[in-house]
This record gives sequence, C-alpha cells and structure tokens, in this order.
Amino acid sequence: MIKNAHIHFNDLGTPFADDFGDIYFSNDDGLAESHYVFYEQNNIDTRLQTHDQPHFVIAETGFGTGLNFLNTWQHFNDHIARQQPQNQLDKGVKRLHFISFEKYPLKVNDLSKALQAWPTLQKLSEKLVNNYPINLQGCHRLEFDNGRVVLDLNFGDALTSINAMSYPQTGIVDAWYLDGFAPSKNPEMWQQSLFNSMADISKAKATLATFTAAGFVRRGLIEAGFDTIKTKGFGKKRDMLIGQIPHANKAQSAPPYFNQDDSKLNNVAIIGGGIASSCILYSLAKRGINAELFCKDPQPAMGASHNVQGAVYPHLQAKDSPHSELFAHSFLYAKRVYQQLLNDGFSFDHQWCGVLQHAVKKPLADKHKNLAQKQLWPKQLMQNVTAEQGDEIAGVQTGYPGVYFEQGGWVNPPQLVNAMLGAANKLMPHNSHFNCNIINIEKTANGWGLTGNDQQFGPFSDVIICAGEHSDVFEQTKPLPIVGVRGQVSHVQASPESRKLKTVLCHKGYFTPAYLDHHCMGATFDKNSKSRHVSDEDNHTNRTQLINFYDHSDFATTLGKVSSAKAAVRCTFIDHLPMAGQWCEQSDYTNAFANLRLGKRYQYLPLNHPQQGLHIFTGFGARALCSAPLCAEHLISCLANEPRPLSERVSQAIHPARFIVRDLIRNKI
Ligand code: SAM
Repeated sequence: MIKNAHIHFNDLGTPFADDFGDIYFSNDDGLAESHYVFYEQNNIDTRLQTHDQPHFVIAETGFGTGLNFLNTWQHFNDHIARQQPQNQLDKGVKRLHFISFEKYPLKVNDLSKALQAWPTLQKLSEKLVNNYPINLQGCHRLEFDNGRVVLDLNFGDALTSINAMSYPQTGIVDAWYLDGFAPSKNPEMWQQSLFNSMADISKAKATLATFTAAGFVRRGLIEAGFDTIKTKGFGKKRDMLIGQIPHANKAQSAPPYFNQDDSKLNNVAIIGGGIASSCILYSLAKRGINAELFCKDPQPAMGASHNVQGAVYPHLQAKDSPHSELFAHSFLYAKRVYQQLLNDGFSFDHQWCGVLQHAVKKPLADKHKNLAQKQLWPKQLMQNVTAEQGDEIAGVQTGYPGVYFEQGGWVNPPQLVNAMLGAANKLMPHNSHFNCNIINIEKTANGWGLTGNDQQFGPFSDVIICAGEHSDVFEQTKPLPIVGVRGQVSHVQASPESRKLKTVLCHKGYFTPAYLDHHCMGATFDKNSKSRHVSDEDNHTNRTQLINFYDHSDFATTLGKVSSAKAAVRCTFIDHLPMAGQWCEQSDYTNAFANLRLGKRYQYLPLNHPQQGLHIFTGFGARALCSAPLCAEHLISCLANEPRPLSERVSQAIHPARFIVRDLIRNKI
C-alpha cells in the first residue's frame, strides 16, 4: 500500500517532509530554482523547437508538490502559443509527456495548500489537484488540454517503478529531472541501481540535471553511461550536475517474443464500431493521427457494446496480479476519460452511483474475505462492507455483505461510444464507413488494402482489428482463439420498491438502478451459442437468477414485466484478458523462437513481423467499459513510440503472442 508523506509547513510556508528532514522546494524562490535547475539546464526551451519527434519526454524522480511539472507545463504552453495554430506540419514538439515517480505522495489537501505559493501557476495547479490520483501503486496516466500534456504519475519507489515499466530498446526519455531530497537525507534513493535503470530507459542524447553536486552521484551517473559535469548552481549554490547519455544502451523490458514494436501510423484503418474502436480512434485523434473507421452495421455500438446500461467497475483479485493491476488502473483511467468527455460538453446517460458486489455464494464470500485480509486496494477503489452498510448504500434491503466500488456506476454504452467518436472527430476529423463489411485485408507494396463487398479502400499504414467476436473472419486472423460468450440482458419494469435502489448490484450477474423506468437485469452466460436472437427463456433465466438470490427482498419480488431485451456475443479469451498488439503468426514464432521448447527464453533476435502494421485489439468480454480506454492508450503509445501506460508484466499479459509462447514453452506446437 502506498503511504502518504508526513509534512508540515514551516514558518515561511514551505512544505517540509518530516520523515526526511528536508524541504520540498527552496525557501527563497522555489519556482525560480525549479526553472533554472531542471528546465534551463536541460535546455528544454530550445529542444521543444528542434526536437525530431512530435512528443518530448521528461522523467522526474520525486513528484512532490508537482512544481517542476507545473513549471514545465506552463513553459510548454508558451511554446505551443508561439507555434502556428492548428498547423500539424509546424516544426517542434506538439505533445509534452512528463513521467514522474513518487514513493510518498502528498495528501491532496497538502498538495493544494503547497501550490498556493505560486499564483502564476494557479490555473494549472487546479487542474492537477482536480485530477490527482488515489494512493494506488503503479502508473496513473493523467491527460490535460485534450491530451497535449500527459502526466504518467507512478506511485511507488522510483527504482521499482522504472524496473516495472514497458519500454523498447531505443529508450523513451529525452530529459531527466533528477530530484529527490538531498542525497544525505535520502540515501536509499540515490543508488547506482537507480542511475543504471535511468540509463536503461533513456533515449540517445537524453540529458539530465540535478541540484546536487555530490561526488558519488556524479561518479554513479558516469558509471551508468551519462557524461556528467558540474555547472553553476542556483542562486548562492556553487555547483550542480548536468549530463548527457551519448547512446541508448539497448536495454529493453521484454524478451523479443513479447516485443511491442512501433509502427508508421500515417493513416490507420479501424475495423469495428463499438467501445474498443471508439477508444482507439480517440487515442489516435489526441495525437493528430489520420484514421478511418469501417463498421459492418448501420451505426456504432450495435454489437456487444449495445446494452442500455453497462456497469463500470474494476475486476480485482485478492492478489497483486497483472490482471488486478490492469483492471484497477484501467478503471481509474476510464473514469477520468469519461468524466473529461462530460466536462467537454459531450453527453451520455450515466450515474456514478457506485457498484456493490454482493457475496451471494460461498466462493464470493471467501473471495471478499480474502480481499479484506490482504488490504491491497485503497478504500476509494474498493472497500468491504457489512450487510447493514451495503443495504444503507443500496437503499434496499438484501442482507448480503459484499464489496463496494464507490467510484463505479453505469453508463449507456452506445451513447458513450457516440460521445467518444464525436470527441475524436472534433480533435481530428475522420471518415466513418458504416454498412461497410470488410471481407479481406491485404498487404501490398504501398500498405494495407481493405476490400469491402463492392469497394476497395486504402492503402493504410496500419490496420487495427477491433471487431469483437468477428475479429477472426480475416484470412490472417483465423487462428485467433476467440471464446464467444452469448449474453442476454432483460429490461424489466421498475416497481415502487425497486425504484429505491441507488447503486448497481452485482450478484452472479448485475442489476441496475431504474433508468427510463426499467432496470437492466442479467446477463446470461452461454459459451455454446453464437445466436443474437432474444429468447423468452433467457429473460426467464435472468429473473429466476435474481429472485433466487433476493427472494426475501421487495425490490426483486415486486418487479414488473420484461418489456424488451438485448443479446450479443461477447468476445473473450480463455485467460479473461483482452488482446492488444501486433498480429503474430504462429509459424513465424515456431521458426524464430523454436528453442523456447527447450526452456531457452532470452537468446533471440527480434522478429520482423511479415504482417507488420496489422494489429489486434479485442477480447474485452463484458469489461470493455473498464479496460478498453487504457488498453487503447497502451497500444497506440507503443505504436507511436511513446511512454506506455501499462507495466511490462501487464503488456505481456495482453500480448497477442501469449498463447503461442505458452504453447511453445509447453512443447505443444
Ligand atoms: N520535484 C518535486 C517538486 O517539484 O515539488 C520536489 C521533490 S521533493 C524535494 C522529493 C520527492 O522525492 C518527495 O516527494 C519524496 O517523497 C520523493 N521520494 C523520495 N524518495 C523516493 C523514492 N525512492 N522513490 C520515489 N520518490 C521518492
């Protein structure tokens, strides 16, 4: 669990860390010092104008009050204001990406108070404070100004966090703000292992600046590969250190069979029309990347994203697994994205009314007990509740204890998809082709061509298949091991008793608060059917299941008739995780990585995928509302050669090659 910093404000109003015996910024002029030491000594202003990529990446050890971040953001805004408006071809950086590591985050009230010292930063400070994440270990991706400024705030020890990151051989960081309390007061952080890991994720010619001139720091940085010299310190301080690494050191986080390569991304075809596609389109639009959407249905969200009310909450295990990490961070990110859409004037029906998962059966009760004992999750994410507390939250009597996700709720998925497509279109207009069934995709000398029933499209640099259960209809993707699970949701008339329900209830299925005077009740779970026809039998099953669990509860026993229902086939994989990445051919893997069968895991050359540019993004099952936005960010970040929001272990857990690699290791293929 992440612990907050213990601080007090000294006589001059400067925040002081009680556990380290050091101040967060200079008593004299912290803002001027931040600007001089980190911004100027890394030569950021000039580099924003001359950088050879559209994004510039700064990484910082010790986020503290966020002063360095806010100052950099402010100057980046000045840089943007100097550019020709809307001119994507204008030279210079378009997006600022700031990665920071923080082991002991300030409490949000302390953060807010500390930042009051800087009236010139007030507007930006407010945005930061309003988006400041909860105490959850790992990477919180915060986006500001339509994604033009991205803050990856990693809660946890700096070294541990860097070592958990997913990054390519070329590195990801352009400039380092090596902050942290004075080395004498925080010797645990200023270690050779940290300097080495910094080098691992640095790009060629990455620079660094730090306020300290301590000899062992300088020697350590040199040892890690940074050419480091002393320069004049801020104000009365004599010296500080600056440095540069001449070459990327070729470290990478993944073994070659789990590489996430970058791609051209000039002009992207997206196949699909549901939540997954809209998330991909939105992530591309934030980066100003051209894309076209191809959907076989007459309008968006007619497949598995078509429910009237979809629950939004994370699927957490009682262990620190890649699965839990993915869902916990995805959920928090999805909430931020959805809230931002609303703040930007896009609308979709929703209620952030919380989600209550009832321990309706012994295995669930055992799981909840385990969750309570392990205490892995902050209260704002998940908390155990007694039956009395749960009933108080729900507003109806059930008698079940459970776990409560207070930030959860429900949204109307088709409206959400339309809002996201609208937001994407506003940032970067795109063509949508509805009623357009793509039957073939083919790589040509110029790129990828798409064949519809009576039309050819392309060429595209990249194709991203987000077609849910239909993702395996193409010649290339036939082997995709999709498990289709049919689900039917029934819309049942509300009663005076059921209208009292204030939160989403989850039992084996789910039951929503009344909306348009109906509740969503479901869903069925049928692995043996691909039918999308609504059946009376399934409506009956949904009601029977609800009554079985809540036979003593008025809200369930007084419900009216089922007025309508929706059925769809959810696309899942056997490990219940989605898939995001380059399409991988089994035969390429069995050739290139044959020795995996002999247990030799790391001695391979990277694979040049013959299907380069073809990507798969599907398998979200019933959880796309939670997991698709962050997975889309991850995929597009990988392809755009940007810092990635998901850790390496999660990146591998959702990698398209995972089943092939598993079978190779087990000597099954
Ligand atoms: N850069 C900050 C700013 O702009 O306000 C000031 C940083 S403050 C001097 C040092 C920060 O480093 C503190 O917030 C502290 O909790 C954090 N820190 C100390 N040791 C750390 C570690 N091992 N990993 C990550 N953060 C650490």
